[in-house]
Amino acid sequence: MAADHQPNIICDKCGSYGFSGIRYKCFICPNYDLCSMCYEKKEHDAKHPFVHILPGQTLPSEGPPRKVARTDDEDRPRRREGMRAK
Ligand SMILES: [Zn+2]
Ligand SMILES: [Zn+2]
Repeated sequence: MAADHQPNIICDKCGSYGFSGIRYKCFICPNYDLCSMCYEKKEHDAKHPFVHILPGQTLPSEGPPRKVARTDDEDRPRRREGMRAK
C-alpha cells in the first residue's frame, strides 16, 4: 500500500480511482478533481484555476460545513462609504 494513495479521490476526467501524487482540484467546478496526467493535458477550461493538493493534504473547505450567520449585515447601512480619505 503506497503512502501517497488517496482512496477517496477520483479523477473526473479519466475516472482513475484513488490516484497517487498531486491532486488538482478545480476552483470553479464543485467537486472536480484531476490527476496530474489529465491536468497536464489541459483539457479542462483554461479559465478555471486549479488548486494543487499534495498527497495527504486536505482542503479546509472540505471539512465539516460551517454555517455563516450574518444575515443582519445586509440591511445595515453602509457607513464605510463616506469614510474614504482619498
Ligand atoms: Zn485523470
Ligand atoms: Zn472547472
